[in-house]
Amino acid sequence: MNKKIKKVTGTIAAQASARGAAGISVIRVSGPQTKEFFSEITKKTPVDRNAAYTTFYGSNDKEIDNGVAVFFEGPKSYTGEDVAEFSSHGSPAIVEMILNRIYELGGREAQPGEFTKRAYLNDKMDLTQAEAVADLIESTSTRTAIAAKRSLAGEFSKKVGDISNKVTEVRAFVETILDFSDQDLDETKHPKTLLSMLEEAKDSFEKLIEQTRIGIRVRNGLVITIMGEPNVGKSSLFNKICGSERAIVSSKAGTTRDIVSENITIDGFPLKVLDTAGLRYSENEIEQEGVKRALEAGKSADIVLEVFDAKDWKTINRKNKSTIVLNKSDLLEKNPQLDEPNIFLLSAKTGKGVDRLLDHIADQFIDADSAESSITARERHLRSIGDAYTAFCKAEKGIVENEALDLVAEELLQAQNSLAEVTGEFTTEDLLGEIFKSFCIGK
Ligand code: GDP
Repeated sequence: MNKKIKKVTGTIAAQASARGAAGISVIRVSGPQTKEFFSEITKKTPVDRNAAYTTFYGSNDKEIDNGVAVFFEGPKSYTGEDVAEFSSHGSPAIVEMILNRIYELGGREAQPGEFTKRAYLNDKMDLTQAEAVADLIESTSTRTAIAAKRSLAGEFSKKVGDISNKVTEVRAFVETILDFSDQDLDETKHPKTLLSMLEEAKDSFEKLIEQTRIGIRVRNGLVITIMGEPNVGKSSLFNKICGSERAIVSSKAGTTRDIVSENITIDGFPLKVLDTAGLRYSENEIEQEGVKRALEAGKSADIVLEVFDAKDWKTINRKNKSTIVLNKSDLLEKNPQLDEPNIFLLSAKTGKGVDRLLDHIADQFIDADSAESSITARERHLRSIGDAYTAFCKAEKGIVENEALDLVAEELLQAQNSLAEVTGEFTTEDLLGEIFKSFCIGK
């Protein structure tokens, strides 16, 4: 583990806009030879932050296209290096010719996420912000996009930094006591301020862990699995929720055998809805496999919708925690009185009652207040913050139980290092490789 392992070298280039025919395409260049490439390709002298309408020249100074070239002088650029952006007509052939000219001049193709990686290595952003760039690009729901933008603006990093400062404060205090170890400690041990510092830091840790959990949900979405016996209307409900005829609806039992999944948004939140095979005993091997997969999907879901035929409402065991859906309400002569909040009487056929279920799902996701301030986060953040909290709690226990203070200081240092992993102050090449490989080329 060390800070900002190695600097990357070379001048890189890639198409930054989406592939395929488009109105315009943007080619981005970054690195020490950017100025030289700019001059060769545009026959103009690069001027910082000036958009120049220009001709793009290819091999042997052949004219390729006309467009706009912008130059950003480092370090005031996305990557912190000299950067150029060439906006050409959005033809893959034109993009290829411009890129080939750059490679001919000594540039190389950028690796996935390499522009953002350089921005991180050049201290233009920390690791959570770099990850937020990917989250923002990949966001398919408005809530995720807004939360990712907050992380990108540094709100998540700031929360982590605030706790790290609190840990530093405690550590400084403990180390001061350590330095006076040959003096009478009775007065300095457990002073009120130290105990309140510990309390405050623990509160902040707990808050951050909860915010990180929500941030993961906002980024990844919730998984909702629809389960139940054959023919109760699971596929019909799935189609109703997803607003499409994605799953096959049939009165013949055992139609859905593999899991059918659809990504949707409810109230701006991302959700993955899974329709599963009807739960029943079957001699048929394929159906058996379908049932096995259904049970597994149920275990890993955030919300399980257990669907029943409403006519059986009296005999249903409601003592489990999942959300119960009583379907086919349109076939009931009289609606039963149900006042449990997790039971939903509806008709997947007519749609009556489905909105109430959707509202309930949106409520499960995150409360409105948290939604307003949520950030995007990942499992790795939660792991590191959890590790930091564990080390911090050990340190606190050590202080309260009068353990050797050098061991306490060690735990506090461990807590700080784990927090530093989140923002990438301390990191490994493996972790960086893992993070940036999921980026697209050109970002
Ligand atoms: P699954 O096997 O649980 O996925 O059930 P399906 O969605 O395939 O539906 C089984 C049968 O019940 C089909 O004939 C559907 O048209 C019918 N069905 C599903 N939902 C309703 C409903 O709310 N009301 C009525 N009347 N029929 C329904």
